[in-house]
Amino acid sequence: MDFIRKNFRNLSDQEITGFLKEISQPSFRLKQIKEWIWKKGVGDFNEMNNLPVALKEALEQNFFLDKITILDSQKSKADKTVKVLFKSVDDEFFEGVLIPGKSRTTACISTQSGCPLNCDFCATGKLGFRRNLTRGEIYDQVFLLNEASLREFDRKLSNIVVMGMGEPFLNYENTIDALKMVSSVEGLAMSPQRITISTAGIIPGIKMLANENLRINLSISLHSADNQKRDFLMPINKKYNLQQLREAIFYFYKKTGERITYEYLLLKGINDSVEDAKKLAEFTKVSPCKINLIVYNSHEKSKYQQSDDLDLKAFVEYLESKNLVVTVRRSKGTDIDAACGQLANKKKPE
Ligand code: SF4
Repeated sequence: MDFIRKNFRNLSDQEITGFLKEISQPSFRLKQIKEWIWKKGVGDFNEMNNLPVALKEALEQNFFLDKITILDSQKSKADKTVKVLFKSVDDEFFEGVLIPGKSRTTACISTQSGCPLNCDFCATGKLGFRRNLTRGEIYDQVFLLNEASLREFDRKLSNIVVMGMGEPFLNYENTIDALKMVSSVEGLAMSPQRITISTAGIIPGIKMLANENLRINLSISLHSADNQKRDFLMPINKKYNLQQLREAIFYFYKKTGERITYEYLLLKGINDSVEDAKKLAEFTKVSPCKINLIVYNSHEKSKYQQSDDLDLKAFVEYLESKNLVVTVRRSKGTDIDAACGQLANKKKPE
């Protein structure tokens, strides 16, 4: 980052207006500048060609734009999923994924470079934590993946899932600010109901999102409804256990009335027995929900294996016998390491 000039996209409207006043520029410039940085996604003040030269120079002297760039892009031969490696202005690397469906295209974006939570099955967790991404860096991923969607699939993004690298609720403010801009008419004007944030179970974040009344969807990466197993699979469970998580989910439901989604990665011999399904069914009684069962993809650093088909079938049948809404998801982009838990910046330059 630039340590002398300030990051312009971290400024509030009041701060920008204050600066304009200081340099004797009219306040309508705020709207023009915001249009350039959010709607048009420019990364250079000099490209803002309806601004006077003196203003562009003053902006350049005092601020920088933390616009990210695409360093590499890989497309799956199997299912056309596109994985994108992004680079920040200070050489941090993080990934996003574009997932085409029959009638929609979903972008999966990151909120941190690396992740501090170190879930046992996750390649990102093995990278360790680098830093939180800024509001602009999170927004840019949606902006650039939307452009990629138009290029690759001839249609705009329809959905966003915040499930890439990092835990969004450990970078709450920047994540929510970025998503507010994504859904604002000043940004990409995408409906918040098409955005889903996935958390490993950060209780304060779940409650804060409930209080915001934004209509953004919530998904919980659960992966086990047994405290002992979850402690091991997801160490964050030692800080926020299943009982606390259940209470927070109940709070979210009471506040928003929205159905939540659970992500449950099936790991052979670990969390895929009928006994595990019973615990999951019991846990999810707390509010209306749907459950995504994710078929695991092994990666080179992983010690886990994919569940057997018969175990998967018995697991699904048990949940359905309890009238739960269950979808089995086979991760896309497995040939390019773009599947759940596989984002590990492998194409990053050494
Ligand atoms: S699964 Fe999510 S929360 Fe857990 S280490 Fe990976 S990126 Fe972090």
